[in-house]
Amino acid sequence: MSEINDSPAYIPQGNEIEVFTAAYENQLPLMLKGPTGCGKTRFVSHMAKKLNKPLYTIACHDDLTAADLVGRYLIEDGQTVWRDGPLTRAVREGGICYLDEVVEARKDTTVVIHPLSDDRRILPIDRTGEQLNAPDSFMLVISYNPGYQNLLKGLKPSTRQRFVSLTFDYPQSETEQSIIKQETGLDNYMNRQLVDLSNSLRRLKDHDLEESISTRLLVYTATLIKAGMNPIAACQAALIEPLSDDIEVVNALMTVVKAKLDID
Ligand code: ADP
Repeated sequence: MSEINDSPAYIPQGNEIEVFTAAYENQLPLMLKGPTGCGKTRFVSHMAKKLNKPLYTIACHDDLTAADLVGRYLIEDGQTVWRDGPLTRAVREGGICYLDEVVEARKDTTVVIHPLSDDRRILPIDRTGEQLNAPDSFMLVISYNPGYQNLLKGLKPSTRQRFVSLTFDYPQSETEQSIIKQETGLDNYMNRQLVDLSNSLRRLKDHDLEESISTRLLVYTATLIKAGMNPIAACQAALIEPLSDDIEVVNALMTVVKAKLDID
């Protein structure tokens, strides 16, 4: 019970806790798909804590190589020493390794991801000649955002078909209100207005936004309002400005905000 109490608070959207637990218990790797800021990272932290496993989270970027994951030789005090990377540490310790936005990483990372994510469950470390067998408690979790995909950066079928998959999306209204309440303590009336407003804005398709309002942005907005900021100003700063650099788009979205928010 105390483990669960210590977990970063997470409100489920569906059956993701059951799927994660079943994948973990059966040594299957997991892929989380969905837009940014909809709870994927929070979910993985929650599950790692719940299962009482060390978690190594790696935010992938376009310079990230296999060596950044596996490890490298370093010169320390005139000596050459091997230093494990976070993926190797997770395998050795039987923990959970979370590769966030995996499609951003360099292509050479697939060479280490593939043998770990099929039934071989091995991590070959070419530089040291070692080959690690992942213990049963090791789990690989990856996330990616299908919305950002471009032709060069899609996840190849040979990679994606190695993973049990869960789709995340913006939560249902009631769930999102519970998240905001839990994260910020904002009162129910304003909380509900914010969620309704976001759902209206999410439905607007003609603004050519790369991505819509995330739960993260809603939490930021609610935090500012709870701290005493005027709700319109809070929406502009935390809900609308982060979405677009186009002043006309910002103005158009702000018109919707002003029309929908009832602040008196
Ligand atoms: P992602 O990894 O999908 O980009 P995060 O997990 O970082 O998103 O979520 C962003 C923030 O939104 C979290 O820090 C948390 O405040 C809030 N959040 C989103 N979904 C949930 C949820 N289901 N339960 C609790 N908090 C959530």
